[in-house]
Amino acid sequence: MMSYYGYAGNVLHVDLTTNAVKKEELDVGMAKKFLGGQGISSKLAYDLIKPGIDPLSPENVLVYGVSPFTGTFMPGFPRAGMVSKSPLTGLFVESNSGNSIGPMLKYAGYDHLIITGRAKNPVCLVINNDDVEIKGASDMWGMDTFETADAIRSKLGDEYWTSCIGPGGENLVSFACVIENRNGMLSRAGLGAVAGSKNLKAIAVRGTKGITVYERREFRKLAEEIREKIAKSPLIDLWRNRGKIIDAYMKPFYQRGIYNKRNYGEGAPESCTQVFTQREFAEHIWKSYYACFGCPCGCKAIIGVDGGEYPVQDFKMSNPWGTPMLFIECGAKDWDEGVKPAYLSSKYGIDAFETLRVISFAIDLYKKRVLSREDADGAELDWNIGTILNLIEKIVHKDGIGAILAKGIKDAGKEIGRGAERYAVHIKGLAPTMDLRGSRTPDDREPYLFVENVGQLLDPRGGHHGRSWSTTYVPRKVDSIKRYAVSMGVPDEAMGRIFSESQWNLPRLLKWVDDFDTMVFSLGLCMRPQMMANFDVNNMATLYSITTGMELSPQEMLEAGGRIWNTQRLFNAREGATRKDDMPPYKMMTEPLRVGGNVNPPAKEGEIQDMLSEYYEESGWDKATGIPTKEKLVELGLEDEAKRVA
Ligand code: SF4
Repeated sequence: MMSYYGYAGNVLHVDLTTNAVKKEELDVGMAKKFLGGQGISSKLAYDLIKPGIDPLSPENVLVYGVSPFTGTFMPGFPRAGMVSKSPLTGLFVESNSGNSIGPMLKYAGYDHLIITGRAKNPVCLVINNDDVEIKGASDMWGMDTFETADAIRSKLGDEYWTSCIGPGGENLVSFACVIENRNGMLSRAGLGAVAGSKNLKAIAVRGTKGITVYERREFRKLAEEIREKIAKSPLIDLWRNRGKIIDAYMKPFYQRGIYNKRNYGEGAPESCTQVFTQREFAEHIWKSYYACFGCPCGCKAIIGVDGGEYPVQDFKMSNPWGTPMLFIECGAKDWDEGVKPAYLSSKYGIDAFETLRVISFAIDLYKKRVLSREDADGAELDWNIGTILNLIEKIVHKDGIGAILAKGIKDAGKEIGRGAERYAVHIKGLAPTMDLRGSRTPDDREPYLFVENVGQLLDPRGGHHGRSWSTTYVPRKVDSIKRYAVSMGVPDEAMGRIFSESQWNLPRLLKWVDDFDTMVFSLGLCMRPQMMANFDVNNMATLYSITTGMELSPQEMLEAGGRIWNTQRLFNAREGATRKDDMPPYKMMTEPLRVGGNVNPPAKEGEIQDMLSEYYEESGWDKATGIPTKEKLVELGLEDEAKRVA
């Protein structure tokens, strides 16, 4: 076996139908082309998942992946996660966390874990370095995610890191998530349901092997430099300090209508200025600091609610300020009412974001008399905490109307019928995070399109903003955006197409942002600005080379990001996704958005169509279908995939 640097050098295959366990050496050629983490996982999923299969059948595959930097002391690279075919969207899904089992998996000697088949009864996959066992877990079936993690540790010992599902995943709720180490969430698009369909209750990992990097001194030097930069960043205080980010970032986004409430029905400026404030958060909810693996920033928190009507024991929340605040969407009146459903989402193992959006959708339908009291199992649905808590229980246990809502917004809309689909706000089946009708400033009328909100249309997972992170979420001068493009390694010829003296072209810039972000996220980088801001294409290439001993130029790194992005696009194309699936939800294109005293107009279909055409052209995709062209795939070194494209 060759020596690996950065990479552990192994892929572990587990077939839950036959109980076969096989260890295989990592393909170095694949590693160089797809980097690691979600990059290699995407390629493996593309090769292993046959098009057209039922995502909840034994034929679906879960691929866990870590990057060559995972588990090292390089600050900023804690993220690892899974790839599969989503039961919510029927398309590609990837989700990752900064509190994952990734580092431990790496210490156990594995870069990737491939899980296929379906166990007859509930099982827990136990990985202890080279020993891999599929153990019965019927005693844990029915436990919530906190209880499951505790049960595993009390049985196996505290050295084990845990990944598990709760009742949401067991009951195949199509937006069930996987919870890692009690608080890391692989939240989006139903990975928990895929695990549930395999009767995979949990994975427990213990690893004691080290990681060898190629150039130790250089690696240490770069790690120290980055650590120093992080320590000096003014963003640290903003993101870390007891919810300061709420007033600085969340509040303006609600005031601009980028985030909103009541099924994308209106902005929520008054709640943000009066109730969901940083001060209230710091005084009543915040308990202590918490960091992802190896992160010197620690922008996460332990939160809880003492006493009152909705007490919640202290727990660690992936997004401690954002998730409870999102429940204002459905009518939570204050932080106490917001924290309770956020806590229940973690406990039951369901994606808090999709849960609140589908609840909001149901309340909206009830208010519009599309759903009757009888449809709602005799309950009156209203924008309040009672409805939220009632529907969470119904969804998790697929009880009555909960069984329909558990299918997700798109399929629930179809099943309910009677015009419900018009109010089903989703992109490719996933509820978008950001509204395309949000404005540049709180007083504007005109929608402000920027890289993140338009990027949701192109994200292979559906409407999530996290894949197209850029500096454009606040309006900036062209020179500033130009510097940002240079830092990503955008080639000169593309710079000419993106920038004029006074303007920048959003869809063309977005294409390069998607390549760059896919590259850095495949390597496990945290997407918070205080981390992203320390890395550009040049130091990423240096870091890759000194860690792995394999030379990749900055341009080759960026190209690898593009290769991964195109592979994910092909996965979806194979499932029938095409240009029409990149369009915004009907509601955002037909209804205005009231934000405080303002009314923002709907997104303009013609403008979006033009943007898609330019994005496709910049990407080398067919303009009519949005599918990568043969020529583009050959250029990216995806010759086999090119042969399959018409
Ligand atoms: S900055 Fe925050 S989200 Fe990012 S790695 Fe650190 S603690 Fe985790």
